[in-house]
Amino acid sequence: MTLSRVALFVVAFVALDAISYVHGFHGLPISPWNPNSGLAVAMLLRHGVVFAPVVAAAAIIADQLVRDMPLLVSIPTEIMAAAIYGGAIHLLRTKLKVAAPLDKPRPLTVFYLSMGVAALVTTMSRIALASHLPHFETDWVAAMFLRQWVGDLIGICLFAPLFLRLNRDTVRDFGRGWPMERDGQFAVTLLMAMVVFGLEATDEFQFFYLLFLPVIWLALRGGPTATLAAMALIQVVMMAATYLRDMDDGRVTALQFLMLTLVLTGSLMAATAQARRRAELAIRTRMDELARMSRIHTSNEIATGMAHELKQPMLAIVNYVGAARRLLEREPPQVGEALRLMHNTDTQVMRADSIIRRMRDFTRKSEFQVETVDLGRTLRDAVEMTEPLARRHNVDVTLVNGDNVPTIRADGVQVLQVAVNLLTNAIHAIAEAKSRKRAIRVETARHDADTVRLTVADSGPGLDPDLALHIFEPFVTTRDQGMGVGLAISRAIAEHHGGALWHDDPQPGHGAVFHVRLPIEARHEHI
Ligand code: ADP
Repeated sequence: MTLSRVALFVVAFVALDAISYVHGFHGLPISPWNPNSGLAVAMLLRHGVVFAPVVAAAAIIADQLVRDMPLLVSIPTEIMAAAIYGGAIHLLRTKLKVAAPLDKPRPLTVFYLSMGVAALVTTMSRIALASHLPHFETDWVAAMFLRQWVGDLIGICLFAPLFLRLNRDTVRDFGRGWPMERDGQFAVTLLMAMVVFGLEATDEFQFFYLLFLPVIWLALRGGPTATLAAMALIQVVMMAATYLRDMDDGRVTALQFLMLTLVLTGSLMAATAQARRRAELAIRTRMDELARMSRIHTSNEIATGMAHELKQPMLAIVNYVGAARRLLEREPPQVGEALRLMHNTDTQVMRADSIIRRMRDFTRKSEFQVETVDLGRTLRDAVEMTEPLARRHNVDVTLVNGDNVPTIRADGVQVLQVAVNLLTNAIHAIAEAKSRKRAIRVETARHDADTVRLTVADSGPGLDPDLALHIFEPFVTTRDQGMGVGLAISRAIAEHHGGALWHDDPQPGHGAVFHVRLPIEARHEHI
């Protein structure tokens, strides 16, 4: 912590105190809103209890400059206040493990609760010390108590989290990703604040609830920083209005209580909504990672077949090149025929390349990516990829593309993964049961107006009715080489697209039938 930062803090603290000291109380530092307390608590949270002496010094300077308070009262009062808040923050940091930037619901709640108690103790101590003043009157106690307590709490609950967010990164991110919606949110906030506080005709207590609308909108969709900024805007408009309209102190304090409710609702809601968004993102990332692992597992299984598949084009290439060379060595060289053979070589190289590329795309780490997917084509790819496995087990695969099946918006690799999983499962089922009829039918169809369907039906032994209840759970497998995640992942993929994966009722001896339904336009909330 540099000296210039300390100086900056003192200047900011005094300035905030001066701006907010609009409704002074008999020359005491007791006002119904104290953003300076919020700044002090934010600094204590960031730098620890060592910052407490700076806070006390800044408060004593402010007492002198802003309200000319007797030093004899100011010094003990401010040292005591800094010690109470410093001690509370120390406990929070060390025992309760609450640290800046207070962006999760639990630490934020613990912070609010402990600040409620700390503000209460500070308020009582301030009153106890003020009672030694010669002009002190006992009637003041109740009013002083309410003003100071709610004033400090508002300052801390609203401004401490806001100041903690004011670093270079958050300010830059906040400014950079400014969506149009936020213009609307702030415009509505300002409008409501002006309606509620600005007009003599609207009774501010009755209309206060209107302010919850933009705050909740911001909390759910705008994130904590925007919510806190909007609530600070409301607070400033409110204080300006009460000052300009010369509202009496009782009313201001009562309004601040309403404001406190708004602040607690807004910031806890924003923190909860953000925590939920983060959790969803984490699940998404895990699921993408698991999906990839499962793809690698599947491709290990089909890779042997793939290597075999590559042998064909390679051999063909060697043959074509040898024949072409012999044609060119003839006298006269047979250029036309040699060229034709070279052209054939091209085709084979392309075939080998597409086999390798498909395998690479399938296992490559990729973010969830929505693209236009032709289901028929994806299925053809899946059939080609599993063809060596099918051939090894003597299984016939028929692909039937239904009429009017439109292209869909989806993650192509993941849809391919679902198809490959269902196909390999079907091949394994037929292979393991040594079924006599060895056929798989893969079909695409239009399911309804908004969705398409893909069906894989096999002639294997069918699903075991008991096992069928659990096959979509992870790690459920009956195969020695199985991982048991294929169906779980495939269902998760379908559901993330806003679709579904299910099977027909098990009919042992009649093969298994799996269906996947996918929306034509992947719905946004699912991605
Ligand atoms: P894995 O294939 O690694 O076992 P899955 O989640 O893909 O994992 O499948 C789980 C289990 O469901 C399989 O082990 C098998 O017992 C059963 N199963 C899946 N597809 C079929 C099918 N087409 N016919 C019969 N049983 C199947």
